[in-house]
Amino acid sequence: MHGVSFFYKKQPTFVVVYLLPTPLYSTINKIIFSAFCLSLIIHFQNITNATVNVTKDFFLSFFIKKTLKTVLLIAIPWLSYAQFQPFPEALSARNSSYEMQIKLDTKKHQVKATQTVTFINPSDDTIWTMPFHLYYNAFKNNKSTFNTSASRIPISKPQSDIDNGVWGWIKVTNIQDKNGNDLTQNSKYVQYDDGNKNDHTVLEVQLKTPILPRATYQLEMQWQSQIPKLFIRTGYNKDFYFMAQWYPKLGVYEPAGSRFAIEGAWNCHQYHPSTEYFGEFGVYKIALDVPSNYTVGASGFLLKKEEKDNRTVHTYLAEDVIDFTWSANPDFVEVIKKWKGVTIRLLIRPEHEHYQNRFLDAAGHALEFFESYIEKYPYPTLTIVSPPFYGLAAGAMEYPTLITAPTMSGFPMGIRTTETLTIHELTHQYFMQMLATNEQEEPWMDEGFTAFFEAKIMDKYYPDGVVSLDYWNIHILSSALRRGRFLAGNNIKSNAVSDLGWMINPENFSQIVYGKTAIWLQTLEGLVGEKVMQEIIQAYFSRWKFKHPGRQDFIDIVNEVIPKHFNKSFANYIQYFLKEAIFGTAVCDYAVHSIENKRVEASLGFFKNTENALTPTEDLGEINYESQFTLYRLGEFIIPQEVAVTFDNGDVELTSWDGKSRTYNAKYEGSRQIVSVEIDPNFKIPLDKNLINNSYTVTQQSTGITSTFTSMVSWLQHTMVSLSVLL
Ligand SMILES: [Zn+2]
Repeated sequence: MHGVSFFYKKQPTFVVVYLLPTPLYSTINKIIFSAFCLSLIIHFQNITNATVNVTKDFFLSFFIKKTLKTVLLIAIPWLSYAQFQPFPEALSARNSSYEMQIKLDTKKHQVKATQTVTFINPSDDTIWTMPFHLYYNAFKNNKSTFNTSASRIPISKPQSDIDNGVWGWIKVTNIQDKNGNDLTQNSKYVQYDDGNKNDHTVLEVQLKTPILPRATYQLEMQWQSQIPKLFIRTGYNKDFYFMAQWYPKLGVYEPAGSRFAIEGAWNCHQYHPSTEYFGEFGVYKIALDVPSNYTVGASGFLLKKEEKDNRTVHTYLAEDVIDFTWSANPDFVEVIKKWKGVTIRLLIRPEHEHYQNRFLDAAGHALEFFESYIEKYPYPTLTIVSPPFYGLAAGAMEYPTLITAPTMSGFPMGIRTTETLTIHELTHQYFMQMLATNEQEEPWMDEGFTAFFEAKIMDKYYPDGVVSLDYWNIHILSSALRRGRFLAGNNIKSNAVSDLGWMINPENFSQIVYGKTAIWLQTLEGLVGEKVMQEIIQAYFSRWKFKHPGRQDFIDIVNEVIPKHFNKSFANYIQYFLKEAIFGTAVCDYAVHSIENKRVEASLGFFKNTENALTPTEDLGEINYESQFTLYRLGEFIIPQEVAVTFDNGDVELTSWDGKSRTYNAKYEGSRQIVSVEIDPNFKIPLDKNLINNSYTVTQQSTGITSTFTSMVSWLQHTMVSLSVLL
């Protein structure tokens, strides 16, 4: 399936054509660039005129093209470096910063490094330890917590790797404090979560001099690592390197009162296969020494590039980020697009080059969306790495200012997995990166919000669907697909979304963390309206960006915003809604049970006394009906409902029900009969697990809402199964 596809056309002028706009980012650069090119053209023409005769035109154009291409290749990096400047003011507290010199050995697949870690104590505590994540040690043996836990991602290692002793590890070889104290022997592996002594994913360093309140403290470290064979987001395969969670990374110190911290403490969990990460904000200045034929992509932006003896040192600067990730491959094609001051740098394989606009357009949509919905993406760069087929284990994943989004040659345009992944991972920049919630303890606060916005953005910019197959007349909106995937869980009640990430049943992890959160956020939006929802998200973001909010911080924001727009009873209801959605496992399901239209008989017999009986007359007058419908609350999750009642004369009446009682009955009298009843006609409550029972029509019509939803749900199931591998 994979390889050079029919669509693959590598044009010799590609570099010129696509990189030409790259340096034209500012007026100054434009002028410099134009003048530079013009002078070279004139210079070249002079030489050419003197030496070339009849074939002048041919050679002229040929050489000018060649020269321009060379000039561009030389000039572009220079201009590119020049255009990025450090932030004039810090966006975050920058409590954990790193400077590293990294040397990549592509023969042994190893890294040798020195790093300086600068920590600013954010509390009034005196601190005596510093714990570091050593994520690569998850791949060190088969008894690590990572390798022995149930996982939502297949973690079994290929037998050939086991036979050949292919493991990954990281070893800190030297630690010194600023006073020259050697702390190497003062460090030990700790297992805060499960006591598994074979797990070496957290190293605790005991300090000889304490970190005083609010003080700055530095450690110098040397370390080396054996890069794992590409496996769950990180490692190498052949000549493709994807370096994520790859260095000793300091835990996050949480002062008393932040999130769950009663006392100030380090938050540094072991590496669990189901959950992701948590990091502190800081500045990373990383010098990556790699063979010169490798193209490098990394968080932040390139500060400088120095070449010596067939090796190149790429120095990157990433500010106000919680992590640093990089990738290297000799065959990456670089495509650059500017979006309102943000340089989007796509590193893509030649065989996928024809799909470049799928990534770039999707990234532009997400940036545009967030600029208007929350606020502008503040970083100067966004790097998208699209891994080769043999590097797919690098996944679709988010890192600060760098995301991975795979594609495949020949992937149908109507299956918008590439766009979905790009938008999903980019959305994480606002939640995983800028809000920087704890993805291990509260994964829903990152993945759930991201899934919510992924669907919102996809539905806005791809209104014909995340699956759009015209020939089959199949169009599935992203939000519908997300809902379908949520409901496909084998037990969506197995955990509350608030459970610690590694305690959530892996079989239902994505349904609960991603799916349920996205769907209850959609439901909240349905209840409060789009405008109030935006106000909530904006207030949440502006108060908590760069500060690691916890769940109560979000709940508090909602409870502050709602009373500004609604009455007390609705505000109280929303408090209940959040409690149930976040901490509960109740399921929402409302159903139309029945519709009854009974003809009202003419009055016959004695009514006032027994002397004047009413008897049938020829004219019975207007035929009257007593109509009623009955609704059931089948689930435990109470949500107020709108109900649309359609009568046989075409009238549609909207009524509301607080949704509390188990049975709800409404009666009408008059000449009209009820034809159909529909709960939640505007589809504001996607949390309702069964939409098929939401409507009832007296006369069977195959075009009714029931059949529409039946077929939709059926499509969702099929599509979800086929796409879930990639999503
Ligand atoms: Zn995600």
